[in-house]
Amino acid sequence: MGTPHLVISRNTGTRRTYCAVCDQQRDFSVGLELYRVDTFELVCLICGQKHAPELVALLALGWLAQNFSQEECEAHAINLN
Ligand SMILES: [Zn+2]
Repeated sequence: MGTPHLVISRNTGTRRTYCAVCDQQRDFSVGLELYRVDTFELVCLICGQKHAPELVALLALGWLAQNFSQEECEAHAINLN
């Protein structure tokens, strides 16, 4: 098996499933996750680090941005009340 090509996409449901690369059961949460390009199955972060560390770095940035914007929205909602 060659190096799997990975992409970042949005996971819409929390689930426990098998990573498409290492075949270990992992928990995946809603939000940005890694997927295989060929089968579009979820890939865990450990495999992501091995095969596409730059994508994992981008994912981490995405999560930070998501948390940041959620906090911003909450702060503005409080200001509106
Ligand atoms: Zn894996």
